[in-house]
Amino acid sequence: MDYEAVIGLEVHAQLKTASKIFCGCSATYGAEPNTRACPICLGLPGILPALNKKPVEYALMMALATHCHISPESGFARKNYFYPDLPKGYQISQYESPLAEHGWIEIETDQGTKRIGLTRIHLEEDAGKSIHNDAEGLSYIDFNRCGVPLIEVVGEPAISSSEEAVTYLKKLRSILRYLGISDGNMEEGSFRCDANLSLRRKGVRGLGTRTELKNMNSFSHVHKALDYEIKRQWGILECGGEVIQETRLWNENEGKTLPMRSKEESHDYRYFPEPDLLPLVVDQRWLDEIRVSLPELPDAKMKRFIDQYGLPRYDSEVLTSSRELADYFELCARETSDAKMVSNWIMGELLRELKGDDSTIEDCPVTASALVELLKMIKDGIISWRIGKDVFKEMYREGESARRIVKDRGLIQISDEREIALIVKQVLRENPDQVDEYRKGKGQLFGFFVGQVMEKTGRTANPRLVNEILTRALEEQ
Ligand code: ADP
Ligand code: MG
Ligand code: ZN
Repeated sequence: MDYEAVIGLEVHAQLKTASKIFCGCSATYGAEPNTRACPICLGLPGILPALNKKPVEYALMMALATHCHISPESGFARKNYFYPDLPKGYQISQYESPLAEHGWIEIETDQGTKRIGLTRIHLEEDAGKSIHNDAEGLSYIDFNRCGVPLIEVVGEPAISSSEEAVTYLKKLRSILRYLGISDGNMEEGSFRCDANLSLRRKGVRGLGTRTELKNMNSFSHVHKALDYEIKRQWGILECGGEVIQETRLWNENEGKTLPMRSKEESHDYRYFPEPDLLPLVVDQRWLDEIRVSLPELPDAKMKRFIDQYGLPRYDSEVLTSSRELADYFELCARETSDAKMVSNWIMGELLRELKGDDSTIEDCPVTASALVELLKMIKDGIISWRIGKDVFKEMYREGESARRIVKDRGLIQISDEREIALIVKQVLRENPDQVDEYRKGKGQLFGFFVGQVMEKTGRTANPRLVNEILTRALEEQ
């Protein structure tokens, strides 16, 4: 039987505001445990929360960037459950009337651009954090995270594979980062994802029974967990069994999802309107101000790069994957006439080095103007493309300028025809047997001669000239 996967993702993103959502505590990550908590975010009796403006502004930015319909009036609700890291016994969230609904984002897939609907985006507060120490057999609780503002982005069940799921997550994260409203860091937990998955027979329209997967804190975990779960559900359905609706945890060590609890229903949470907060009314003028202040977003930038710089779609996509990378590219492209050359060097040499270091463009030791200087030296024929790659590696490692490295190491390309001709003659003189064989028809020896010439010149001879002069010299009888 042929099945297809149906995936819907729920994403929680921490908003990068100075304060928490309903009190004045600092919301910054990494402080000493329990030093950023007050009676309000701890929910002591008698306190009253008050909504701060910044989280709302950030949530509205995201809602606008993802084409949502924004409710002029929305409200908060209490989601009741017990957990040690939730001191109030409830989480303030939005339930019946979310801030924004019916949005979408677009992702690139093998079958072209695909639009994925967003059911809703709402505001809520984060819970604290439990830290389990297995060696001690103890658990600790850090309340610093209580009340840190979150948005939850609920996606439609419209994703068809683990690859698409990761692409979708990366796109959401890229939008959040372009907007500057979230770090989008999965390892630190500022960007978290629960994945809902079901299978259905191909051609069927209804949805099958789903499981919800949690505890994936990197894109590769999401990818592996979904692939594992697709196989698991497929195995059950193939044998005529039924998938049980439940929440499962990804276990990275075992490479499996394991059952955690039977799936909760929303009525289990006894949602009710938060009596301590007023309705959230969004002023139309304020919304318009936010709309016009939005930065250029990934899709728009990608299209502009294609139009303005004549880049292929693939290049534009890679270069606009982060705002910082896009800015770096534009700094370079503005100073040269060859945008495609810039793109090739960034996508090839530069990203390779960064990836090897597990770092990003923000930490790149080679500045945009330093790269431009190198590219100009290649364009002007001062060094060859090949040597340029070595120079780039050294620039990256040593933080030196291209000019300096080329000068110190004597890498200036030999473009003097007479000088090259002399070396060619010498090589032919030293290898009479090979010359003989070449003239008898062993054409592949040409590469051998080129190699000899390059070696004698410390790889600095202009390769085009070497080819020309060598061809001529070998033709002469
Ligand atoms: P809950 O309240 O349990 O989180 P929702 O109905 O709000 O459930 O759905 C949450 C997520 O689950 C959404 O992203 C949605 O797309 C996804 N989802 C719902 N039903 C299915 C299904 N049958 N298969 C896959 N994903 C689903
Ligand atoms: Mg859920
Ligand atoms: Zn507080």
